[in-house]
Amino acid sequence: MDFASPIEQIPRIGPTLQKRFRKLGVKTAKDLIYHFPIRYEDFSNFSKISLLKARTDIAIRGKILEIKSSLAWRKKMTLTKAVVGDDSGAVKIIWFGKPYITDNLEIGDQVIMAGRVSQGKEGLYLNNPSYEKLTEDGPLYSSRVVGLMPIYPETEKLSSKWLRGIVRQTLGILKDDFQEFLPESFIKEFNLLPLSKAVWQIHFPDSLELAEKARKRFALEELFLIETFVLRERIKLLQTKAHSIPMDIPLIKRFVDSLPFKLTDAQRKSSWQILKDLEKTHPTNRLLEGEVGSGKTVVAGIAALNTAKAGFQVAIMAPTEILTKQHFKEIAKMLFKFKLTIALLTGKEDQIMAKKLKGETIEASRRKILDKCLKGEIDILIGTHALIQDKVKFKNLGLVVVDEQHRFGIEQRAKLLKEGKIKNLPIPHLLSMTATPIPRSLALTIYGDLDLSIIDEMPKGRRKIITRVVLPKNRQEVYDFIRNQIDLERQAFIICPRIEPSSVPLRGTMAGKQNQKYNPWAGVKAVAEEKEKLEKEIFPDLRVEMLHGRMKPKEKEKIMSAFAKGYGGKNKIDILVATSVVEVGIDIPNASVMVIESADRFGLAQLHQLRGRVGRSSHQSYCFLFTDSSSLKTKQRLKAMIKAQDGFELAEKDLEIRGPGEFGGKKQWGIPDLAMASLKDFALVAKVKQSARENLEKDPHLKNQLFLKKKLQRFQQKVHFE
Ligand code: ADP
Ligand code: MG
Repeated sequence: MDFASPIEQIPRIGPTLQKRFRKLGVKTAKDLIYHFPIRYEDFSNFSKISLLKARTDIAIRGKILEIKSSLAWRKKMTLTKAVVGDDSGAVKIIWFGKPYITDNLEIGDQVIMAGRVSQGKEGLYLNNPSYEKLTEDGPLYSSRVVGLMPIYPETEKLSSKWLRGIVRQTLGILKDDFQEFLPESFIKEFNLLPLSKAVWQIHFPDSLELAEKARKRFALEELFLIETFVLRERIKLLQTKAHSIPMDIPLIKRFVDSLPFKLTDAQRKSSWQILKDLEKTHPTNRLLEGEVGSGKTVVAGIAALNTAKAGFQVAIMAPTEILTKQHFKEIAKMLFKFKLTIALLTGKEDQIMAKKLKGETIEASRRKILDKCLKGEIDILIGTHALIQDKVKFKNLGLVVVDEQHRFGIEQRAKLLKEGKIKNLPIPHLLSMTATPIPRSLALTIYGDLDLSIIDEMPKGRRKIITRVVLPKNRQEVYDFIRNQIDLERQAFIICPRIEPSSVPLRGTMAGKQNQKYNPWAGVKAVAEEKEKLEKEIFPDLRVEMLHGRMKPKEKEKIMSAFAKGYGGKNKIDILVATSVVEVGIDIPNASVMVIESADRFGLAQLHQLRGRVGRSSHQSYCFLFTDSSSLKTKQRLKAMIKAQDGFELAEKDLEIRGPGEFGGKKQWGIPDLAMASLKDFALVAKVKQSARENLEKDPHLKNQLFLKKKLQRFQQKVHFE
């Protein structure tokens, strides 16, 4: 048996247990060893029974004075009661659901009991303790229940006590198998326990300090593997070919001068970094992170212009059709003077939805576009991800820009890389853009194989968005305020969490209250309902429209372009009631009010994204968070929204309050727990990274580190990078 052996090869593990283990993700002996305890109970000393105190973890030694099982709770559960006595006194013991105990223990047995003391109606008792029978010639005390005892997450009917036995046994069998794979220098630098010692100390520590030290080893081991993995991916990129696209400084100068605004320093710096990337002879991979409204599009525009003018094609992809159209319009507008052929390819319709901008852009059938693209007659092609997934072929694609869809970019990139390697073809540079503020430490770790540019500065003249939490009684004041803003020629968004009218009565009514228990959506404002109410009762003289994900693309487009036209008059929209479809990318600089209904139902990151839909010009903007929840957590979270304007700050806060697992909604990063915990320590991550780099520099192909190489291969299969 070895590390890779399936768990059913471990003695005492049959099909039933195997299934339970599988549910925990434990499939091999190694998984079992790496199923770490969550804490330890200290049973190092025996307590005198007369001195027991409620709510303490203790171990006692004594004799069984009474023991009996019965069926409790409508005979569904075995209840075992016993009394154990020592020189000083006696205490009651209770076990639930362990019918076999009376097979193992009987009156007169000498035993050790270890567990928690609870306060019952009739005095103290030991609640579900671990136990060990002492025989005449057996060891005086058994290490299975005395000492620091590992407590595992108790799930799938696998008790800590039982797991202890299995883990101890497996460690014993595998004891010669724990080959150290971390480089000596790394172990020294961070003062880590060697693997063979760490596996014992994390399960059966001699002291809490050693347990902690073992834990540190496993956390850093994971970090080291991640960093080594991403560095090696980077080396693969370095070994692949790409078109080197020269930086045309006069061209860029002309472009920048043609803009109606001055670039921020952050935009300038990011553009420079990207243009530098493009010059490389190997494919580069960069993530451009920037707040909503920080002006990422113009940076992408610079990269696209430089690439296209050098004779290479550019593909720009966004997640939704609305966004692709917006990009198309914006990019076509900003590059208007530069005589490039820019086309928009939409996924569903067979027609190009391109607007004709004086011959600069083309309007043609899908087939024609594909044909022109293959011939290299299109400089910049904009579309959804269908753009590359489909049969779209380019003549000489130099740059791919992916907006708000990082995962897609990476996957696509991996595919391209493979093809490039096989056919020895140049593969395009990749620029991903995101407004999702990923904490720096996290980004550098998971996206370690790409470079990071951050736009951490808003265009001049933007003002802080004033954010307020609004209780139900103050709703009318907000409506009055909206009317006032519209009188000032501004526009407003009202976001509701769901499309359909809720089928249950609103909160506050009796039926509503009863229903709330079962339907978490009860009382949530719905877009259609809300629109009707606003239009009929609150703002009968204004134009209110709605937008949601279930509308046809054409309808959405109509509404969006009407809303984009600005305030008042025919074909224009004053108030847009929408679901969170407006979350990413929509640019309506004239809008100054964002109302979010049931704000407590959105995550912080999402609220921040929504808020970013306003404040995109020099007008003072406002965000009103409606809530009728008075829970502490809601208060805390919404308060964070008022205080922090910066998405990075909010993300760090989210990471802090809710933990990395929940960061960014329910997204799984695929990073092992222990490593995740150490990600908060940016300096540590940087040090580990440096160490991994030095190690690879010494031995790039890991020729002298076969154990590490093997470990990485397995690791790669397990960890899925975003
Ligand atoms: P995002 O980063 O969210 O994609 P956009 O690129 O859509 O942001 O830019 C938001 C708005 O800011 C656009 O209307 C754009 O024209 C404008 N903008 C971009 N850069 C600047 C700047 N340096 N100064 C003023 N306005 C700018
Ligand atoms: Mg954008």
